[in-house]
Amino acid sequence: MTATPAGPEVPTFVSHLECSATGETFPPDRLHNLSPAGKPLLVRYDLEALRRHFSRETLAGRPMDLWRYRELLPVRRRENIVALGELVTPLLRLPRLEAELGSQAPLLVKDEARLPTGSFKARGLALAVSMAKELGVTHMAMPTNGNAGAALSAYCARAGIGATVWCPADTPEINIAEMRLQGAEVHRVDGLIDDCGRLAAAACAEHGWFDTSTLKEPYRIEGKKTMGIELAEQLGWRLPDLVFYPTGGGTGLIGMWKAFAELEAIGLIGPKRPRMIAVQAAGCAPIVRAFEEGAEEAPRWENAHTVAAGIRVPRAIGDFLILRAVRESGGFAIAVEDEAILRAREEAAHSEGLLLCPEGAATLAAYRQALAEGRIRRDQSAVLFNCASGLKYLP
Ligand SMILES: *Cc1c(COP(=O)(O)O)cnc(C)c1O
Repeated sequence: MTATPAGPEVPTFVSHLECSATGETFPPDRLHNLSPAGKPLLVRYDLEALRRHFSRETLAGRPMDLWRYRELLPVRRRENIVALGELVTPLLRLPRLEAELGSQAPLLVKDEARLPTGSFKARGLALAVSMAKELGVTHMAMPTNGNAGAALSAYCARAGIGATVWCPADTPEINIAEMRLQGAEVHRVDGLIDDCGRLAAAACAEHGWFDTSTLKEPYRIEGKKTMGIELAEQLGWRLPDLVFYPTGGGTGLIGMWKAFAELEAIGLIGPKRPRMIAVQAAGCAPIVRAFEEGAEEAPRWENAHTVAAGIRVPRAIGDFLILRAVRESGGFAIAVEDEAILRAREEAAHSEGLLLCPEGAATLAAYRQALAEGRIRRDQSAVLFNCASGLKYLP
């Protein structure tokens, strides 16, 4: 058993940052947004050193939270960790639905609702805010559909960092209340999240604030990748056959795909990967359209609308990374109607006692639809991501 090392340094193995499009490298330990090519930067680690210093046994006896994987995360100094109790989230089987659908392998929900601020945005923002603290940031800003802003404001309050957010005017009231209570300045915008993003970028340029938009800084994805590490550890270092991920900006899908490569490189898992299935709403499905057209990028989806606000993202800056991961994994992208989302939500609540958020329900609807269309098999184990608390979305 490895005890938590004393002293201020967290053992960390970051070697550099890398442009996800050009491969150009940049030094770590300073502030970065997009690369000069205008693309997301990815954190790279000294995987050889990690292979020697990190093993399954390293984890024995550590608290069951996100920081148990700290060697695979970028924070250098313990005092900079901004934490609100990022618990390892449970994997729950859906036995009644398995029986009804005739599944011959486990159907599991990774229930991210248990995280601080009630959504998996906590993972990304815990890392982004910790790194911002480490690098001396005093004010952070971002566009949000609600949950990201709620997580940003919570972690910023915790860290003593200022927060300003822009959200579509129809963002759920509960998210607006969370953000305001947690000290953020909130601007409602007559537009969608990409319109909000433009306002955030302009304000950052004007005031010198740090732009924390999805994939416009390198660390949210590092927090989100812990979903992939957790999944592997929880399943005995074997990955499921299928992962259904409700895809907006795609940080989680890209992050998990990155985590699997890192885990294999350090010898924790073998080459087997799940098929990554990007789930979108029929009223906002830019990734599905690009996947079906064989395109490498996903142009803006006009007139985006869906009950699943968290995945109402008409244009994702990491589109090419999402599409690449989905294709490399042998997966696919699939769109589900709002009606099917609401039906799946009712079904999971009635039959399993699990109140999913609409985005989580979309993954169940997609599982059902993919089975019916013969795109997946009943003997393939599947993990559905329930990314936020259903309590945030009462009708
Ligand atoms: C942000 C969000 C998503 C999408 O996550 P990405 O990793 O950005 O694609 C899905 N569901 C909910 C509830 C969200 O808040």
